[in-house]
Amino acid sequence: MKVVAGNWKMHMGPDEASAFFSRFTPDALGDSVRVVVFPPAVSLRTARAAAPKGVEIGVQNIHPEPSGAFTGETSAEMARSAGASLVLVGHSERRHVFGETDEETAGKVRAGLRAGLIPVVCVGETLDQRRAGKLETVLRRQVEAVRAPLGDAPSFMIAYEPVWAIGTGETATPEDAAEAHALVREALGDLGGAPILYGGSVKPGNAGELMASPGVDGVLVGGASLDPESFLRIAEAA
Ligand code: PEP
Repeated sequence: MKVVAGNWKMHMGPDEASAFFSRFTPDALGDSVRVVVFPPAVSLRTARAAAPKGVEIGVQNIHPEPSGAFTGETSAEMARSAGASLVLVGHSERRHVFGETDEETAGKVRAGLRAGLIPVVCVGETLDQRRAGKLETVLRRQVEAVRAPLGDAPSFMIAYEPVWAIGTGETATPEDAAEAHALVREALGDLGGAPILYGGSVKPGNAGELMASPGVDGVLVGGASLDPESFLRIAEAA
C-alpha cells in the first residue's frame, strides 16, 4: 500500500482545515492508499474531527520534553491528545531554517514514541552536498542519528526529501529517487522494511511516475497538498 502524506507547513488554520476536508472526498480510494495530513498544531483537533474516516492526522513538530517551561512549544503528548497519531521529525525546514541538529531530531523521535506517535523522519541532502558527491554520507549520517530510537519503534517511516527540490518546482528524477531510497534502505539495515516516501515538488503530474519508481513507497507533499483536488489526484495516482 502506498502512503500519500500532506505537509501543510504554516498554512491552514482551523477554519481552513475544516473547509479543506469538506472538499476532500477520498471515498473511491478504498484501502489502496494510506492518506496522512500534517496540519499546524492549532488545527490538529479540528482536522481530526473534520477528516474523513481512514485519513490519519500528524503533527509537524514536537518538543522532546513532555511538558515544562518551553514557551511556544508543543509536546508529543499534547499533540496526541489533540488528535495526532504521527509526527514529522527533522523536516528540512526544521533542520535548515531553525537549525535543528541530528541529536535534537533523535530526541524528538524518542519523544514521539513515548507518546505513541508514529515518527516520519525526513532526510535529504542540499544542492551543495549533492554537487560535492556527499549524498551517501549525508543520508547515512542522518539515518544513523535516529537508528537507535527507531529500533524500538513499533512502526515508523522515512521521507527522503532532497532539500533542493522542496518548494522549488525542481523534482528529483525517478532514477534519483530510486538511488537515494536504496541508500536510505541500506543505511537502515535490519530496519529497512519501513516505508520510504519521496518528497520535493510532488504534483498530480509527476506523482504516479515517482511512486512507480523502485523502492518509493509513497510521497510527502507540501504545496500541492493545500488544494483538496490536487491532493486527491495525487492520492489517486497511488
Ligand atoms: C515538504 O514540505 O515536505 C515538501 C516536499 O514541499 P513541496 O512539495 O512544496 O516541495
